[in-house]
Amino acid sequence: MRDIGHFIGGEHVAGTSGRTSDVFNPATGEVQARVSLASDTELAQAVANAVAAQPKWAATNPQRRARVFMKFVQLLNENMDDLAELLSREHGKTIEDAKGDLQRGLEVCEFVIGIPHLQKSEFTEGAGPNIDMYSIRQAVGVGAGITPFNFPAMIPMWMFAPAIACGNAFILKPSERDPSVPLRLAELMIEAGLPAGILNVVNGDKQAVDAILAHPDISAISFVGSTPIARAVYASAAANGKRAQCFGGAKNHMIIMPDADLDQAANALMGAGYGSAGERCMAIAVAVPVGKETADRLVQKLIPMVEALHVGPYTDEKADMGPLVSRQAQERVLGLIDKGVEEGADLIVDGRDFKLQGYENGYFVGGCLFDNVTEDMDIYKTEIFGPVLSVVRANTYEEALALPMKHEYGNGVAIYTRDGDAARDFASRINIGMVGINVPIPVPLAYHSFGGWKSSSFGDLNQHGTDSIRFWTRTKTITSRWPSGIKSGAEFVMPTMR
Ligand code: NAD
Repeated sequence: MRDIGHFIGGEHVAGTSGRTSDVFNPATGEVQARVSLASDTELAQAVANAVAAQPKWAATNPQRRARVFMKFVQLLNENMDDLAELLSREHGKTIEDAKGDLQRGLEVCEFVIGIPHLQKSEFTEGAGPNIDMYSIRQAVGVGAGITPFNFPAMIPMWMFAPAIACGNAFILKPSERDPSVPLRLAELMIEAGLPAGILNVVNGDKQAVDAILAHPDISAISFVGSTPIARAVYASAAANGKRAQCFGGAKNHMIIMPDADLDQAANALMGAGYGSAGERCMAIAVAVPVGKETADRLVQKLIPMVEALHVGPYTDEKADMGPLVSRQAQERVLGLIDKGVEEGADLIVDGRDFKLQGYENGYFVGGCLFDNVTEDMDIYKTEIFGPVLSVVRANTYEEALALPMKHEYGNGVAIYTRDGDAARDFASRINIGMVGINVPIPVPLAYHSFGGWKSSSFGDLNQHGTDSIRFWTRTKTITSRWPSGIKSGAEFVMPTMR
């Protein structure tokens, strides 16, 4: 059995807490490794390494910091196939999808190669008589990232790339379900020239997260995961005086207007609803066709497509989607589908009994399609995080718009239409963070920022883009005057520029 420990001070270290968690192959249900779950002491060791290494790294000129990421991007490309295989084996997603996960993280690393420019600040000459005023963006010190299972490459890189590029040291606490890729990324960062102690990976569960939240030397925390934990981490970080950005769950809608190209819309729903077995925070979970005719035609197109989904292990190159991540996830999703049937929704494609010869113990669920789902149903309100698409029929555009507007979550949303006026109105009025117009998964590129609204996000600044540079730095503003410019004696009134 392979034992997975931590990566502290530039090297692998075995866990010492005595607590472990099994890492499964989701396609077969076999245990393939055991990951150590850190104690408070182990977390404290990682932070001590980070604290010791950080000042020198922050003082390293930004072009040198950028060069580490240039080399890292090259190493990621060279190791892409092995990393994708490692990722798929623990997560279950297809190899091509794993490469997408890695590529989206890599693009954030490409973005931070611009750190010499991104971290530059403002200067005002002559803000007052002989006074110059300038602001600098300094690293916050030691930052921490707590990441979910569903993007074990992209989300760690969303966080550690800008944090480290800005001159911080970083503690990454990945999901205990697929910890191998984050550890490999840390090794490659060292190979790229990062000094030891700047990127530490501490594996663990709630105990490690609580230790991060309590540690006085951690200044900023970035969290991505489910909404109840995001909310709790945000509250606790704030109570402990830490800066925090916490991203939670989602229930993304796609509105299909009567004038939309229905073939395009159906294809988009397939990819966005069932890709990665629906385990994406930007998955489309709800299709809202406007008008009965649109709904009937769309559903007739979707039924054979959902029935034809090719479900298989990551080793099957033809697979459209793989298994869910764990037995617990599989049971939860099956339970929610049962609940939808009990609630009276029409399960028009039923993937509950999906079985794959040779993979009977894998965590597979076949594609499911519900029609006539209504707002009061649990399957509408809850994030299912599985290969389940719900059709909620709306009579008018206003009725359709009201659905995502009223929903608890506000991560992503899409509209399919040929009508520019409708698209513009939709983009302007919707209370959701990321909007697609004829784009089903509107995940912003690395140089824009990623983040939802409402219960999908707690905090002010988003992931990547210029928001990330703000999040991982503190602004210091300096007002300076040289002695030759000081003319008067003591001044007792508030200085102004009247
Ligand atoms: P999760 O909330 O179970 O776990 C996320 C992280 O929190 C993990 O590192 C985990 O170890 C830790 N954790 C779990 N329970 C904890 C507890 N009680 N106290 C402290 N820490 C705890 O989420 P998951 O199942 O790994 O990921 C799926 C969820 O993440 C979905 O809800 C999905 O929508 C969301 N997600 C959101 C985004 C986004 O950007 N908004 C992106 C990806 C995933």
